[in-house]
Amino acid sequence: MSSFAGRMKEYPNVSLDRFDRENLHARAYFLSHCHKDHMKGLKGPLLKRKLKFSLTVKLYCSFVTKELLLSNPKYGFWKDHVVALELESPTQISLIDETSGEKEEVVVSLLPAGHCPGSVMFLIEGAQGTVLYTGDFRLAEGDAARIELLHSGSRIKDIQSVYLDSTFYDPRYYQIPSREACLSGIRELVRDWLSRSAYHVVWLNCKAAYGYEYLFTNLGEEFHSQIHVNSLDMFKNMPEILSHVTTERATQIHACRHPKNEEFLRGTRLPCGSWSTDGTPLKIISIKPSTIWFGERTQKTNVIVRTGASSYRACFSFHSSYCEIRDFLSYLQPINIFPSVIPIGRTHADVTELLKPMCRSVSSSAVIYRPLGTLKRARQDQPPSVRLILCLFYATH
Ligand SMILES: [Zn+2]
Repeated sequence: MSSFAGRMKEYPNVSLDRFDRENLHARAYFLSHCHKDHMKGLKGPLLKRKLKFSLTVKLYCSFVTKELLLSNPKYGFWKDHVVALELESPTQISLIDETSGEKEEVVVSLLPAGHCPGSVMFLIEGAQGTVLYTGDFRLAEGDAARIELLHSGSRIKDIQSVYLDSTFYDPRYYQIPSREACLSGIRELVRDWLSRSAYHVVWLNCKAAYGYEYLFTNLGEEFHSQIHVNSLDMFKNMPEILSHVTTERATQIHACRHPKNEEFLRGTRLPCGSWSTDGTPLKIISIKPSTIWFGERTQKTNVIVRTGASSYRACFSFHSSYCEIRDFLSYLQPINIFPSVIPIGRTHADVTELLKPMCRSVSSSAVIYRPLGTLKRARQDQPPSVRLILCLFYATH
């Protein structure tokens, strides 16, 4: 859950993923993805009023995020103020003070974040240096080296600050199985159950948020079945997802939710009320995609764990693991790292302390008393693969 207050030290004239309080004064807004904890104040009356009188204030996001946002009528008033930007295509934006006319120029690039449909990270370059706001992200180890815009030529850019999705920056989440491994575990469980009879049904106990589409589309394709959901509204502008979901209840895979009780599943009845197709009661298993629950296990577990007679937990993460974040930061070597999320059961001080060794100044001071210190300079003139090895060395020794 993001606790980012909206503004970066370097570019306080823009606000990201937070739209209330002092963010009401921003000259431009950025939305990394459509999750509620990143949209605070976005439909507020004060902001609505500000837009009415402003000629220059815009909200920048990806094309998919724009579609998702405007599919909810509560955000309809943003329609003429949302500017969708192409992924990985640097765009110059003038931040204009509407009273004095004073201008600040920045170049903004959207980088893929792998968190949910439309999610991006924002790379902002300007007079105050290069900063990266990650929003929420899940990148695999080695992914940063493949993002061209983090480099100038073969060198990594000099990154002043990273505003980081630190949801799982905690050794409890040292490694989280890859998205593919989690999906394949769920797929096998679903296959085994559905193959028993037409009355065998699976209920995916998902929260009401974007992010599970990856699961829906893959299971839909694999089992030539549509997934039952409460409403198609949120997918109405996303044909590739829309074709895999339905509001028809006669399907063997459900991700519907009870209007009042999120955990609702009673015996042979699904949250949508279905209990049979032709008088024969359904045989239902529930699968709850979880990450934190898996992080709390003291012993290494499978990606699927049976938690009751007909209930299962499946490992599924929208956020990078501790190892993946370390890999990402070791590669970027930012001077400052600001956590946007406090892992459950930790404090801001805990996570800041854990992030310290990943900041460049700390690695540099390590260089002073280590004979391998001169290799540090390789950062400037070696290809990325060599730099990665060195960075990992500094991070782990
Ligand atoms: Zn999110």
